[in-house]
Amino acid sequence: MGENVLEVENLVKRYGPFTAVDGISFEAQRQEIFGILGPNGAGKTTTLECIETLREFDGGSIVLNGLDVRRQPQEVKRIIGVQLQSSSFFDKLSLVELLDLFGSLYGRRVDPLGLLEEVELADKAKAQVKELSGGQKQRFSIAAALVNDPVVLFLDEPTTGLDPQARRHLWGVIKRIRSEGKTIVLTTHSMDEAEELCDRVAIMDAGKIVALAPPLAMIEKLVAGGFKKDRVERLASLEDVFLHLTGHALRDE
Ligand code: ATP
Repeated sequence: MGENVLEVENLVKRYGPFTAVDGISFEAQRQEIFGILGPNGAGKTTTLECIETLREFDGGSIVLNGLDVRRQPQEVKRIIGVQLQSSSFFDKLSLVELLDLFGSLYGRRVDPLGLLEEVELADKAKAQVKELSGGQKQRFSIAAALVNDPVVLFLDEPTTGLDPQARRHLWGVIKRIRSEGKTIVLTTHSMDEAEELCDRVAIMDAGKIVALAPPLAMIEKLVAGGFKKDRVERLASLEDVFLHLTGHALRDE
């Protein structure tokens, strides 16, 4: 087992009388990609927001890199990266200017071009966010979340709305960020994304974690329990057809 960078224990979050997160516990390790899956309303975003210090919670504890999230929120903010939606970026600045600005919010000098290279956007350095495609905007929002060289990077549905090529491209970017020593916690509704990217996943339902294991182990357990699909899978999917016809290369560069 690796070193725990994030420890969530018995987390409870209520909105009035409604319990959105109902006593969940999990850990994420250094250099792990940890996924949180679950139907709409399961409590995934609320969980992330509690860890990110953006929401107060009602019970339990969260420790991030040895810091108590409830008692040391400012210290925690300095060592986490949170992906913002592109709509929250200023329109008038170029990508390089925005990264400089975000760095200054942390009191840091950043290397904007290095960050843009990390997410394969160096050729767009002088562009403004509104000139980027959906996939490029998502990659830029990851670059912005990396300005403070965070220990843990949080991504809330990072590939929603992207085409198959752009999703695969972003998966490559996320894996590379992990290989550089970071821990990544992400939510997704895409099961192939969870299978491809995540070392372990927690499946949430109605505020509780109902399973937590590596994706393959979950599948093997289901099959070992006698589960059979109604029909045998075809040897290729429509996505395979799409990628076969349109290639793996990005179209929006
Ligand atoms: P999705 O997959 O749709 O993004 P989620 O798993 O991220 O869902 P949350 O956004 O965490 O779910 O919401 C969990 C529950 O808490 C939902 O029932 C939601 O309506 C409720 N909820 C979320 N934010 C608030 C709020 N600010 N006030 C009251 N209820 C809220």
